[in-house]
Amino acid sequence: MSAGGEENELLSGFQPPFEHFSTQALHEGQEPEQWNSMAIVPPICMSSTFKQVGLGKHAGFEYSRSGNPSRNCLEKAVAALDGAKYCLAFASGLATTMTISHLLKPGDGIICMNDVYGGTNRYFQKVASENGVELCFVDCTSLKCLKEAIKPNTKLVWLESPTNPMLNVADIKACAEVVHQHGDIILVVDNTFMSPYFQRPLALGADICMYSASKYMNGHTDVIMGMASLNREDLYQKLKFLQNAIGAIPSPFDCFLCNRGLKTLSLRMKQHFKNALAVAQFLEADPRVEKVYFPGLPSHPQYQLTKQQCTGTSGMISFLIKGNLDNAKKFLENLKLFCLAESLGGYESLAEHPGIMTHTSVPLEERKVLGISDTLIRLSVGLEDITDIIEDIHQALKAAHPNVVVPAK
Ligand SMILES: *Cc1c(COP(=O)(O)O)cnc(C)c1O
Repeated sequence: MSAGGEENELLSGFQPPFEHFSTQALHEGQEPEQWNSMAIVPPICMSSTFKQVGLGKHAGFEYSRSGNPSRNCLEKAVAALDGAKYCLAFASGLATTMTISHLLKPGDGIICMNDVYGGTNRYFQKVASENGVELCFVDCTSLKCLKEAIKPNTKLVWLESPTNPMLNVADIKACAEVVHQHGDIILVVDNTFMSPYFQRPLALGADICMYSASKYMNGHTDVIMGMASLNREDLYQKLKFLQNAIGAIPSPFDCFLCNRGLKTLSLRMKQHFKNALAVAQFLEADPRVEKVYFPGLPSHPQYQLTKQQCTGTSGMISFLIKGNLDNAKKFLENLKLFCLAESLGGYESLAEHPGIMTHTSVPLEERKVLGISDTLIRLSVGLEDITDIIEDIHQALKAAHPNVVVPAK
């Protein structure tokens, strides 16, 4: 197998890592001096309220919905990792999306990338639209399509790059230029699949960089949380107000866990990339596989763009297995190391079927256009030994296609 210990030359073609990233992940916002105990590890501050020093005077915290020390130190760390002035944490990725949507009024327009996380699609279609926001889905990998979709009432453009599950890559910088030529439109980039280790949307011109921190940011599959990082003071003040006024905030315990997860973000992302690249190369060479979608492969249509825009790419791979739904089902049900589960971005390898599991809220016609077919499988490649990961895929492919003889590697 080609997945041995030697360095893969494709790992090196990307932009260099962001300076000071690992140091900031460990130390930014984590100063022991902020705690009376001088604790090195930020304490979990469960108090919902804080003693005031005098009438109308507080020592930084009043009530934990508006601000909490455990949340504060997490928000500071994430802001630093995004190269941002501010970050706000929310109860989930979708709570972040919902709070950002409250920047709009009925009659305002949202342009959303056509291939997005199923829950984002559902929120915009079934909730935001119902509340009077005008919505259109656009393939933002085409600047022409994006330009044509912008209308006088457009207030928000929502990108995801790479997209879920097709891993299409949008040119964030070019999209930002188009969007900002058309007045006061907020450009949001969902950076969940990449984390700030591989991509910094704010530096490319986005106004808000958002995350489902339930994925790579926390990385241990034990927290549901969301984040929004930004530099614009006016937007920050509005979102900070909404964070408190709506109240979709994370618990101090979850903030502690996510903050801890960040300490190994750079190490995890490097290994996810390395393992995923080896898996992508294995799949691409396999006769039982129709097509592989992975932005780190030279065969990906936006490979060059990915190398310009990113410092690498994560553990997310989609592929078409040859055959039909039955072959996809056999593959998924025969995996042993990979768990059949929704979600992604944790230390463990997961596999899922977007058509049946994560993207059922995308209308069937739309799914067809996007390429979310019966044979599409999405992998979140974890941190296990690469030989075990590939062996598992190999044996599950064999179970799905018992009659295909694969030459020994
Ligand atoms: C999971 C996910 C979300 C939603 O986040 P939750 O934390 O589950 O609410 C949004 N965008 C992407 C890309 C995701 O993967």
